[in-house]
Amino acid sequence: MTELLVPTDAAVLPQVREWLSRPRGLFIGGTWTDAASGRTFATHDPATGQVLTEVAHGEAVDVDRAVRAARKAFEGEWSLWTPAQRQRLLFRIGEAIYEHAEELAQLEALDNGKSAAVAQAVDVTWVAELFQYYAGWATKIEGRTIPVSVPWAPGTQWHAYTLREPVGVCGAIVPWNFPLLMAAFKIPVALTCGNTVVLKPAEDTPLTALRLAEIMAECGLPDGVFNVVTGYGDAGAALAAHDDVDKIAFTGSTEVGKLIVDAAKGNLKKVSLELGGKSPQVVYADANLDLAIPGTASGFLFNHGQTCTSGTRLLVEDKIFDEFTQGVAEVAAASKLGPGLDRTSEVGPLVSQTQLDRVLGYVDQGLRDGARALTGGRRHGDEGYYVEPTVLVDVDSSFSVYREEIFGPVVVATPFNAEQGVVAAANDTPYGLAASVWTRDVTKAHRTARQIKAGTVWINCHNAFDAAMPFGGFKQSGWGRELGASAIDAYTEQKSVNALLA
Ligand code: NAP
Ligand code: MG
Repeated sequence: MTELLVPTDAAVLPQVREWLSRPRGLFIGGTWTDAASGRTFATHDPATGQVLTEVAHGEAVDVDRAVRAARKAFEGEWSLWTPAQRQRLLFRIGEAIYEHAEELAQLEALDNGKSAAVAQAVDVTWVAELFQYYAGWATKIEGRTIPVSVPWAPGTQWHAYTLREPVGVCGAIVPWNFPLLMAAFKIPVALTCGNTVVLKPAEDTPLTALRLAEIMAECGLPDGVFNVVTGYGDAGAALAAHDDVDKIAFTGSTEVGKLIVDAAKGNLKKVSLELGGKSPQVVYADANLDLAIPGTASGFLFNHGQTCTSGTRLLVEDKIFDEFTQGVAEVAAASKLGPGLDRTSEVGPLVSQTQLDRVLGYVDQGLRDGARALTGGRRHGDEGYYVEPTVLVDVDSSFSVYREEIFGPVVVATPFNAEQGVVAAANDTPYGLAASVWTRDVTKAHRTARQIKAGTVWINCHNAFDAAMPFGGFKQSGWGRELGASAIDAYTEQKSVNALLA
């Protein structure tokens, strides 16, 4: 086994250091267990590249064990829990997450490279809120009574109603950019509806899922209701293909999303997909620039650009293009790069060497194609995976930097002419996850919002989410919606019951 390099940074809480000092197993049926192969893999701190700890290397056989445990729980005690019991448990888990917020945020920051301060204020707070939002739903999932006619049985009377029942065993596969949060887009809603879950975290960021499993168990979650199998893509593939999994909820790249669809075909399990994006930020000349310049900069810099909704195409009305992009470049250039545990850091390292190479590869290609960097364009320092915040102009819509998801702190800016409109340019992408519109003109704002083909459109802000607002993609950004009431539909089956009152 690799020697563990427990972080010595004084900012690291003693309990985080202690937690990292031991290798971590799989969480199956309420017990910690090694992978069947006995193998482990290392997870790293992207700020230094050092090993944080080792986790079990789960594979198909382990996924199978977890699915069996989830099936047993689904058919066992958990199925007898009342809605009020599920509500109380989920609310308690939310409280426990608030209590452990700093610790969870540090683990996330160490494993992913993101700011611990932001992880606590945004990721972990929202995770707690999602548990409590869906706690409230447990007692409010209702069917309907339906006045039926049954035309070929005249003179009969009927009592017809619908039930909402859990789908069953749900597989959840999540990426590394918001490890805990993306898991929490799935787990609370699945549990409030009475399902059980097997989670496969990303190989780069397995830690907070494991800590969450401990917290949930301490709160009284019955064995097998929530299981975690850490591993590589093959473990995700085994979960997506498993014949005894009833639903798969995937967040990740569009490329892997298509593989999930193929894998799910065998038993036609339900599939929901939250995939990639290349979201436009549309800035009209009448925008409040004091709001829009820092707002659009944060729209592509948040989480170092590793955000599925990142506003990576800046479409700016030609009249203000130079002034605006100069302003955004200044904000980007002034951002402080540093490790997530430094509370003054604004932009942290990318998650891995692979991502560093990928992002720099895109930027180099863009520059070779003829783009010009107003700021950034290079790696920052030689330790950790930092990329300078980068603003590219002179970009043609055929360039790969314009078309493809880069997943780093890189934005492309192109001007548009008010006469010709901006909608065609905004929609010129195979993705449709999100967009923002910046203007003081209320009519123009809402008209543009209707014309953009995206699952979420923000006005005079970017990346403003809420547990109650449905979230998901048009086009190749996904299938279905997470969050809000929409997700209840995605985690329940509807059953029609029709009784002849003879
Ligand atoms: P990814 O490569 O698609 O991986 C996502 C998850 O799928 C990981 O757990 C990964 O495991 C697993 N996986 C890999 N190959 C698999 C396979 N053949 N079958 C089943 N699972 C497999 O995505 P990523 O690079 O981690 O994350 C970045 C992407 O996620 C971006 O495209 C981003 O836009 C998207 N994203 C979307 C949303 C949204 O809500 N729309 C939110 C966040 C991120 P390993 O980690 O072991 O490879
Ligand atoms: Mg890591």
